[in-house]
Amino acid sequence: MPPHAIEFTGVTRSHSPGTRALERLSLAIKPGERLVVLGPSGSGKTTLLRLIAGLDVPQEGTIRIGDRDASGVPPHQRDVAMVFQSQPLYPHLSVAANLEFSMKARGIRARERRERVRSTAELMGIGSLLERWPSELSGGERQRVALGRAVTRRPGILLLDEPFSSLDEPLRAGLLSQLLTLHRQIGSTLVLVTHDQSEALMVGERLAILDQGRLLQCDTPEAVYDRPVHRGVAALVGSPGMNLLPCQIFEDGSSRRIVLAGRDLIRPAERSRAMFPPPGDYELGFRPEAVRMIGDLEPGIADGRIQLEARVVGSRYRGATRLVELEREGHKLAVRIESADPCAVGRVVTLEVGIGEVSWFDRATGHRLS
Ligand code: ADP
Ligand code: MG
Repeated sequence: MPPHAIEFTGVTRSHSPGTRALERLSLAIKPGERLVVLGPSGSGKTTLLRLIAGLDVPQEGTIRIGDRDASGVPPHQRDVAMVFQSQPLYPHLSVAANLEFSMKARGIRARERRERVRSTAELMGIGSLLERWPSELSGGERQRVALGRAVTRRPGILLLDEPFSSLDEPLRAGLLSQLLTLHRQIGSTLVLVTHDQSEALMVGERLAILDQGRLLQCDTPEAVYDRPVHRGVAALVGSPGMNLLPCQIFEDGSSRRIVLAGRDLIRPAERSRAMFPPPGDYELGFRPEAVRMIGDLEPGIADGRIQLEARVVGSRYRGATRLVELEREGHKLAVRIESADPCAVGRVVTLEVGIGEVSWFDRATGHRLS
């Protein structure tokens, strides 16, 4: 089947009164796209997939699959395959028979079935496991078979619910790259949900960021990383996420007073002032790698840069880089530097961030300014 578009319009799903697993979700997924839904546990990811699969129904709003309204269309008529975090295999069937199962149910001929089992097994690296029983497989092998089984019948939509989260790192990375190869071959619309951002960045052509049932942003990984539209996205994406410091800007006569993380910032030079937002209550965001440490220099305001002092409270060696944790009036921040740079705990250092590299968020709503 050709890949299908999926379109949510104003979809709300609540499992119990007063709580919303998904709230007025509108999202258009293109045919053949790889969309990753990223969000913490409980944000509504599984609910979203179950709605696409037809295992659950919305209370408000509509879902379209391909060119038709999906309401009233039962799961088996949606051309959707779904793989869960620990997908049960049919225990009484061999791996080969598991792979073949859904094709049999769809009346695909024996010769075609054998060919697809062979090619899928090769693609997933499970060719040597075909005669085994599910009980004889490791966790990673089992998830590979589950994924293979979901795609042998070439579904128009493939839904993956944290399928690799129980696997350890090298295994997971290997499976993710196999998934990309698989997707190139079968061309289904792919919706992967995960709470793991490295997985999301690796697989997604676009990322949809969910938080407490609300879609915060849906865009390319680059846009989500560089221009998060909400503080929730800024904090969630990145390891660690964006630094977010409270920042109040006051009118002070003809000048401005800027309080960043509990302490006054040296007043910006005249020419830089236009780069600050109008008086208000904000959060100032910047990535750990956007910061330069300029040692023990007195903070000042250079044109186009913000300089602030903070105290080093921790330093973690991460191979090529070092992640330095700092504190300013009780507010924590993190900076990534070259690992060779010494950075003694207890030292007070001056940090510098280019004004072009900062994001401003409205403190009350969490939304990005322009
Ligand atoms: P995620 O997959 O992101 O962890 P879910 O979609 O499973 O999130 O759940 C979203 C919210 O809905 C959670 O608060 C969860 O507790 C609630 N929820 C999900 N399924 C049910 C259910 N069958 N009954 C009651 N509450 C549910
Ligand atoms: Mg889930």
